[in-house]
Amino acid sequence: MTRRKKIYEGKAKILYEGPEPGTLIQYFKDDTTAFDATKKAVLEGKGVINNRISEYIMTRLNSIGVQNHFIKRLNLREQLIREVEIVPLEVVCRNIAAGQFSTRFGVPEGQALPRSIIEFYLKDDKLHDPMVAEEHITAFNWATTQEIDDIMALTLRVNDFLTGMFGAVGIRLVDFKLEYGRLYEGDMVRTVLADEISPDCCRLWDVQTNEKMDKDRFRRDLGNVTEAYVEVARRLGIVKQAAAGGESVH
Ligand code: C5P
Repeated sequence: MTRRKKIYEGKAKILYEGPEPGTLIQYFKDDTTAFDATKKAVLEGKGVINNRISEYIMTRLNSIGVQNHFIKRLNLREQLIREVEIVPLEVVCRNIAAGQFSTRFGVPEGQALPRSIIEFYLKDDKLHDPMVAEEHITAFNWATTQEIDDIMALTLRVNDFLTGMFGAVGIRLVDFKLEYGRLYEGDMVRTVLADEISPDCCRLWDVQTNEKMDKDRFRRDLGNVTEAYVEVARRLGIVKQAAAGGESVH
């Protein structure tokens, strides 16, 4: 057996060379980090559940025409994806004030925003992912004006879709982070959604109780992190019962 070539290792995922040119294998780790990786833990089973949730969301987005890098899930922790050139931006979309937004602008957590707000952050751990404006993005060629327009339009579509999808199962989509990539097809380059969409990169609150069902449970030491992620998957119909009931996540 030959060892697979590791292309990249991030905080929560590893990318390996794929079986065919232009493909990669995305492996979901149980590792969890917060606050610039100053807080770390291994949450058993988190990678398995995020692999399933991200598969489900990417597949549904694909079916409404939001193209993304997902091809198919391979096993418990891995999915086959298209190789893209990652746009070095974290794109955050917010519907309700929370987290850094509340801290930065003094808006109380939980206050609905007058409209959805999209923000850009430079993907650079050493600089602590600073917030950037379109001016910085285009001046430094991190993305073109056309790409920014495409990213804004796609992000709003994703927001509409996910707000409805989660709302239907009693979950409020407070905010989320997306990443995009450039997919090269001959002479053409297309902006597609990449990375993952899971409770690691969304804020999800129970509509009835406002209970947090996302990574803030880890950031704020609320406990039962993986259990909350499994509950999100259960409500979406991805797994049949809560983890405590001995659910096997296939
Ligand atoms: O921390 P902040 O309030 O800016 O986070 C906004 C949203 O983006 C949250 O859902 C958070 O989980 C996500 N995020 C992320 N990765 C980062 C920063 C934020 O997934 N590096």
